[in-house]
Amino acid sequence: MSEKYILVVDQGTTSSRAIIFNHNEEIIYKSQQEIECFFPHDGWVEQNALDIYASVLNVINDALLKTNLTFKDIDSLGITNQRETTIVWDKNTGMPVYNAIVWQSRQSADICAKRKVYEKLVHEKTGLLINPYFSASKIRFILDAIPNGQERAEKGELLFGTVDTWLMYKLSKGNIFKTDYTNACRSMFFNLHTFEYDDELLKLFSIPRKMLPEVYPSSYFFGTAIALDENLKIRAVAGDQQAALFGQNCFEKGECKNTYGTGCFMLMNIGEEPILSENGLITTIGCSIDEKRVYALEGSVFIGGACIQWLRDQMRMIKTASESENYAKRVKDSDGVYVVPAFVGLGAPYWDDDCRGAVFGLTRSTTKEHFIRATLNSIALQTKDVIKVMEKEANMKIKVLKVDGGATANNYLMQFQSDILKAKLILPYCLETTALGACYLAGLNSGYFKSVEEIKAIHKNKKEFKPLMKSSEIKFIDKKWKTAIKATRTFK
Ligand code: ADP
Repeated sequence: MSEKYILVVDQGTTSSRAIIFNHNEEIIYKSQQEIECFFPHDGWVEQNALDIYASVLNVINDALLKTNLTFKDIDSLGITNQRETTIVWDKNTGMPVYNAIVWQSRQSADICAKRKVYEKLVHEKTGLLINPYFSASKIRFILDAIPNGQERAEKGELLFGTVDTWLMYKLSKGNIFKTDYTNACRSMFFNLHTFEYDDELLKLFSIPRKMLPEVYPSSYFFGTAIALDENLKIRAVAGDQQAALFGQNCFEKGECKNTYGTGCFMLMNIGEEPILSENGLITTIGCSIDEKRVYALEGSVFIGGACIQWLRDQMRMIKTASESENYAKRVKDSDGVYVVPAFVGLGAPYWDDDCRGAVFGLTRSTTKEHFIRATLNSIALQTKDVIKVMEKEANMKIKVLKVDGGATANNYLMQFQSDILKAKLILPYCLETTALGACYLAGLNSGYFKSVEEIKAIHKNKKEFKPLMKSSEIKFIDKKWKTAIKATRTFK
């Protein structure tokens, strides 16, 4: 029998990708197409749901064309997607009734503000904070924005889905109306304890149950993508960050990954019992291959690699992001300089919306090299702040951090991160960890991969970073960083 492949659709905020994997977790081909974002008002971010679907069809067709493969060569299809982005469409026509409201969009902030008194209830039931990121207030916004929205939803004429649900609906010509737990738990009305939609929370946003897709584990036979081929089986669906946690082989309780992109996204597998954070971390559902429950703690750093873009585009200190490594390595330390890139305030564990960025410790001897080094350090120090909270709440020490994302290309940053965390960093061979997670989930459902053990045996790492810094030095840096954060927060 000829070799089979797994096809993954990774539908992200900036682009849609189709990736073809072989059994050795190697990428045979990757096709990518950018998605346009619209900004109708300050803080609003929307996309055209039909464009999203069209881009997915394009990249799938392109990937097959370039590799000379047909759907007969594909074992199964896995879907991973930008989370929370909300689409509402007409059940009869299959046409969206409003643009897709992207997760970043703040257009439903007022709807959330009105319900702020229910924060505790929402947190206890969903593990989330009341915030316009999550789908509930976005659905409310759409139903209010279109003519007779509420009435039509109550009559069962309108359907809601995140991008996974929308894509499956279109790919199956309206036959599949489903989602998975990792996506459902970002809606703000999915109960983390019962694994069901919660009537009390649905009522809070006046969202009729009739609009909602059925929910299943991430590794599951969702149905057939008959719009592409009558035998193409969809066997995985997972939100991007949880897919990446799975793709990073964080299968056990206590295993943790950090993605260093524009922002940083940290997730820790916390096992079969949810932990509700007291320090502003989110509790979320992780990928599961059967009905066994897996939870994760999630924290993010708003400005990660973005501060290197700032050095490049605003400060004009570097021409490319990768140059930052050479500059940082030209000096032996940051000469007492600390950069706090609180450009949009600070996230976990500070949750301070109103403070703004600051630089400390400048002297006549401060050079561009020190400044760049201090800026790179800030990515690792912010990450450490989130990890310390995770360790406290999960009551365990992180000894290994699996890393991915664009900024992991920076060896200086990775070494400094390992040093100040006193933890080993592992960089996988396949950096497309999100897509890889969906590949594993689909393959586990079809039998392409026999077990998680088989996956562990196949999984390859590219590089490791081990901590080298002296404890006294770490202590000194920690103390200075804390002082810098405190001072940043007083300047308002
Ligand atoms: P996203 O998925 O959020 O678009 P990526 O994973 O593609 O992000 O990573 C891009 C980010 O990584 C950018 O913010 C960029 O500044 C940063 N980056 C890329 N290469 C380097 C490098 N060598 N050193 C430091 N930062 C880098």
